[in-house]
Amino acid sequence: MNLDENTTLANIQNYVDRMEKERGFDKDSILHKFLLLTEELGELGKTIRKNYTNMGLASNAPDQNTSHEIADVLIVLCSVANKAGVDIGKALHEKESINKTRVWK
Ligand SMILES: [Mg+2]
Repeated sequence: MNLDENTTLANIQNYVDRMEKERGFDKDSILHKFLLLTEELGELGKTIRKNYTNMGLASNAPDQNTSHEIADVLIVLCSVANKAGVDIGKALHEKESINKTRVWK
């Protein structure tokens, strides 16, 4: 199973669906996936803290790669969307059409 380099959000969501079935992660509930998403967001937060701020970290804190953590967040977000039956690309278009009508102060 490969992911096309010129991929779309729909391709990514489809890939995550197939990957989870292949690896046996497809039986987890949406709540389980949402908890994993918060965990991955925490890991991303730690890399941002380490690589983009002067906030201290424990000297034995494991090295984490920001791009890898962003990928983890995207993968698990796709998993949550798949469990909810949400097409992220379609949802993005719909929500942005609403957002464009807002007045930003
Ligand atoms: Mg991670």
